[in-house]
Amino acid sequence: MERLQKVLAEAGIASRRKCEELITAGRVQVNDQVVTTLGVKVDASQDLIKVDGRPIRKQSKVYVMFNKPKGVITSAEDPEGRKTVTDFFKHLKERIYPIGRLDYDTEGLLLLTNDGEFAHLLTHPKHHVPRTYLATVKGVPHGSLLDKLRDGIKLEDGMTSPAEVEYQDVNPEKNETVVKITIYEGRNRQVRRMFEAIHHPVVKLKRVQFGPLQLTGVPRGKSRSLTPHEVDELR
Ligand code: URA
Repeated sequence: MERLQKVLAEAGIASRRKCEELITAGRVQVNDQVVTTLGVKVDASQDLIKVDGRPIRKQSKVYVMFNKPKGVITSAEDPEGRKTVTDFFKHLKERIYPIGRLDYDTEGLLLLTNDGEFAHLLTHPKHHVPRTYLATVKGVPHGSLLDKLRDGIKLEDGMTSPAEVEYQDVNPEKNETVVKITIYEGRNRQVRRMFEAIHHPVVKLKRVQFGPLQLTGVPRGKSRSLTPHEVDELR
């Protein structure tokens, strides 16, 4: 956070002294509020600053694909002091936040951005963005049980919408099965609850795809920026 007059001066509006005059004259707005006092601090990468109604510069928008490890909270802060996804992005000058969420014990593809409109678009239920997971479950679920998941299964918050479900791998020694599942909604703990409903609880869950984006080439705990083309594809 920096003093408003400093940010204005650094954006090339005028000298700092002259910028102070612009502020006291009521010609400067921060997030559409006129500011006339000189002590105000702003975040140049987040706040929309205007002089005489014109933005001083465009805010840079950041779009990141992150491979979330398990044991990390998907929120900006945790009252219990656990590691959060935003802890991985402290080096960025922009403040970014997660689009939707993955459980503490779920790993895999998570998008983060500082573009509120974009985040809203992707998390809105009417958009039905497909999300694909590899779920390692206890036992070997019968094909008829996977059919139930495909067709829609009753959870306490209602029927799930149709899903794509296929066997991926069976581990007889551990008595576990890896199932690939794609859902078109994002209810809380949905995949875990779907498998609980067929009595094959999830022991490991990883999101491998979100919309057209696949989690390939991003190691666990690492991230990369989306390309402009990828951002367009998601819109
Ligand atoms: N479904 C779940 O159960 N957990 C997640 O983290 C994501 C989807």
